[in-house]
Amino acid sequence: MGKEEYLRRLSSVNEILQAFNRLHASMDAIPREIVVEAVRSVVEGVRQAIQAARDEMELVEIKTEVEDLLPLVEEEVQERLRFRLRRVINATGVIIHTNLGRSLLAQEALENLAIIGGCYCNLELDLNRGERSSRGDHVRDLLCQLTGAQSALVVNNNAGAVLLALTTHAQGREVIVSRGQLIEIGGSFRLPEVMKQSGAILVEVGTTNKTYVDDYRRAINDSTAILLRAHPSNFRVVGFTAEASLEELSELAAEKGLILMDDLGSGMLIDITQFGLPYEPTPIQSLKDGADLVTFSGDKLLGGPQAGIVLGKKELVEAMGRHPLARALRVDKLTLAVLEATLRLYLEPRQAMEKIPTLSMMNLSGTELKKRARTLAGKIGKLGDKFQVKVVEEFSQVGGGALPLAQLPTWAVSLMSPYLTVNQLEEQLRKNEPPIISRIKGDQLLLDPRTLVGDDSKYIVEALSKISSNLEA
Ligand SMILES: *Cc1c(COP(=O)(O)O)cnc(C)c1O
Repeated sequence: MGKEEYLRRLSSVNEILQAFNRLHASMDAIPREIVVEAVRSVVEGVRQAIQAARDEMELVEIKTEVEDLLPLVEEEVQERLRFRLRRVINATGVIIHTNLGRSLLAQEALENLAIIGGCYCNLELDLNRGERSSRGDHVRDLLCQLTGAQSALVVNNNAGAVLLALTTHAQGREVIVSRGQLIEIGGSFRLPEVMKQSGAILVEVGTTNKTYVDDYRRAINDSTAILLRAHPSNFRVVGFTAEASLEELSELAAEKGLILMDDLGSGMLIDITQFGLPYEPTPIQSLKDGADLVTFSGDKLLGGPQAGIVLGKKELVEAMGRHPLARALRVDKLTLAVLEATLRLYLEPRQAMEKIPTLSMMNLSGTELKKRARTLAGKIGKLGDKFQVKVVEEFSQVGGGALPLAQLPTWAVSLMSPYLTVNQLEEQLRKNEPPIISRIKGDQLLLDPRTLVGDDSKYIVEALSKISSNLEA
C-alpha cells in the first residue's frame, strides 16, 4: 500500500473536530480557534510522517484513524490552553537567575501590586492640591532618603537608564571608558552598542587588565562629556590588574568640568559583606566617592521589579527626566507599586533582609540549608530504589552579574539514577508541571534548597515519584 493510500485514509480536520466536540460537549467551552489549530497541527504532523516514511514498515506504524488521533489532539489542546509564561521551580541555587525572571518579590510588594493593579490610583495626581503631578514623585523622595542622592529617576530597566543618561548628556560627544570595563552582559547588553545608539562617541582607554587615571586624563579633549565607570558584572579580570578609583576619577572630572557616571549594574542598598560576600560597591558609596550619576537595576540585588534606577545631581537627573526618550522608557504603575513597597522595606534594613527574598536567600544559614536538604533527600529516599540520593556540600550563586566569583556555601541534594542519564533526569524534571529547573554537575543532578520557596519541595518529590513509577512501567 503506497503513501497516497495512507494520505487518503488520514482523517480530515472536520471529522476529528466533530469527534472532539462530541467528546467535550458537556465540558466548559474550549475556544474554537485553539481546537482547530490543534487538530490542524496533528493532521499536518501525520501527513509529514507519512511523506517522510522510508518503507512500508514505517508506514504501518502511522496512525490515521480519528480514535487514534484524538488523544494527540487532546494533548495539543492542553498545551495550547496552558500559559506560555508560567511559574517554574528554581532548584539551581542561582538566586538572581535572569532566565528564570531574576528577583522574587516581597509579600508586601505583591500585596501592593494587587491593590494598585486592581484599583484606580493617584499615579499622576497630587491629592493635596488636586493638580496633575508626575509619576516619578512617588519613589523619588524614598530613593533620595535611602541613598543620600540629590535626585532620582526610574525608567524601564538599567540598559534604558544608561541609554538615557548617555543620550541626554553625551550625544555627539565623547565618553571615556576603560577597556577593562567594556563588557557584554548576558542577554545582549553591550556597552559599545548602547553607546552607539545614544549617539555618544566611545573612547576606550587603558588595556584590558590595567587602566590608570592618567589614561583618562590624556584622552580628555574639548568634546569629552562623560567619564564612565561600568561594573564588569559577570566578567572579571583577576591577577595583575588596575583600575582608576572613583575618587581619582571624581577629582579629574571636577577639574575638567566633566560628568562622572557609574553604571553599577546591580545596586545594593545594604552592605553585603555581612553575608560573608566580597564587597560590592553600593550606590550610596558611589555617590559619596563623587559619582555625579549612578545607574542600577531594580530586579538584581535590590530585589524589586525590573527597573532602571538613576541617582545623582539634581540638574543632571532632571535633564534626563525632561528628555523625550524618558517618555519612551517610562515605567508603569505596576512597577512603581512594587518598587515603592520594596524600597520602604529598606527603611529598616533588618526588615529588608528578612522580607526581600533575594536578600533572605543570600542570608540563609548553613545549618538551615543542611536541614532543608536533608528533609528533601529523606523524602526522595522513600520513593524507592530508582534514585541514589545524598546530601552534598556545594555552592550557590548570587547571579545577575553581581558577584560572579562569590560563592555561597550550601547543602544540595545530589541525585543519580541507574535507570536514567543525568541529562534525561534533568529533562524530565524540566518538563514536569510545574517545571523544575535543576543543575547538572558531572553525573549528578543537584537540587539546591536555597532558591526553593513555598511548596516547591513537595512538587519536586511528586515529580520524582511520577518519574520513578514510569520507570517501573
Ligand atoms: C545587568 C546590567 C545592566 C543591564 O541592566 P538591565 O536592568 O538588565 O537592563 C547594565 N549594566 C550593568 C553593569 C549590569 O550589570
